[in-house]
Amino acid sequence: MQKVPFFKHDLGETELQAISEVLQGNILTTGDFVASFESKFSRYLQANHAVGLTSCTAALHLSLEALGIKEGDEVITTPLSFIATSTAILHSGARPIFVDVEADTGNLDTKRIVEAITPRTKAILPVHLFGQMCDMKSLRNIADKYGLSIVEDAAHCIEGERDGIRPGQLGDTACFSFYATKNITCGEGGAVVTQSQKLAEQIALLRTHGMDSTASDRDKHGYSHWDMPILGWKYNMDNIQASMLLPQMERIEINLEKRKRLVQRYRERLKPCQDITLFETQPKVKHCYHLMPIRVAANKRDKLIDFLSASGIGCVVNYRPIHTFSYFAKNLPYNTGQFPIAENIGDEVISLPLYPELKLETVDWVCNQVRKFFDD
Ligand SMILES: *Cc1c(COP(=O)(O)O)cnc(C)c1O
Repeated sequence: MQKVPFFKHDLGETELQAISEVLQGNILTTGDFVASFESKFSRYLQANHAVGLTSCTAALHLSLEALGIKEGDEVITTPLSFIATSTAILHSGARPIFVDVEADTGNLDTKRIVEAITPRTKAILPVHLFGQMCDMKSLRNIADKYGLSIVEDAAHCIEGERDGIRPGQLGDTACFSFYATKNITCGEGGAVVTQSQKLAEQIALLRTHGMDSTASDRDKHGYSHWDMPILGWKYNMDNIQASMLLPQMERIEINLEKRKRLVQRYRERLKPCQDITLFETQPKVKHCYHLMPIRVAANKRDKLIDFLSASGIGCVVNYRPIHTFSYFAKNLPYNTGQFPIAENIGDEVISLPLYPELKLETVDWVCNQVRKFFDD
């Protein structure tokens, strides 16, 4: 094991207690714990509805399905994200249309969207990268003008806000991940948040095969025949996952404060280093500090990763652009060179360790190692 892992969860006794409560009952699958989590999560986000799912990928996919996105449609999105942002579009049958990103934030460049709109365009799928929200007001204006839907990939951005707007408030839906390294986690999990009752109901139906009643309903009210009016998937969050997430909602802002202090320390220590570029935060943004990305010269990047790994420091690359992966290169009409800003970031970026239990002294040590690499 590394001296300083890239990520360390902070789950323990509280979550064990929560799981044991589920085991004392008889419903392990979707039930009351999921309903409590959904109500707590939507209240936290100041949105009307949340639907618990098995992943953010499922949340993105079902959002597109519920919005009627299908084969032949186009969805405008960013190449600088985890592949799931685009695979969900492919699952819906639509085609991802990439637009380059802003150099100083890595977020989708709203100024480039209009030129990418065609008669086939049905939706915009922005990603709130590293925990900083995109400019949702501009995106909503564009979407309204051209009659498009917005699905937000908010996997990095549960706590975020920009111009007084939270994820899920201006988008038709916002999609969240509770994967192992996310700000709250149950190993694997996800959710959709939306203001629309119609979309919430449709997604709830789609998450369990399109069945019109659940096992928990049958447990409460006894058996009755159910129907399958539409074709759905098997994407429902279970009570065990929900029980682990509930106590984490109580410390979500405390953990954010801890990460904020750590990021401030990283930035103080790394700013004087000529070889390092840091991303910027825009005005009126409440940042989630989900990741701690830095940029270094492309020809030094992989050497720095090797150097840090040899020192026992875990680091990863968020992200190499989606269109450069073999499957996308083969199946979509994009070439390397087409999205130069995303590609530059992809060649230069490294994410350093960040998690609430990380110590300030450890951050100092990691920064010293990074600076040592450039000094030697
Ligand atoms: C983690 C992540 C996803 C996928 O989340 P899952 O819950 O693993 O499906 C999607 N988009 C971004 C930006 C992510 O970081």
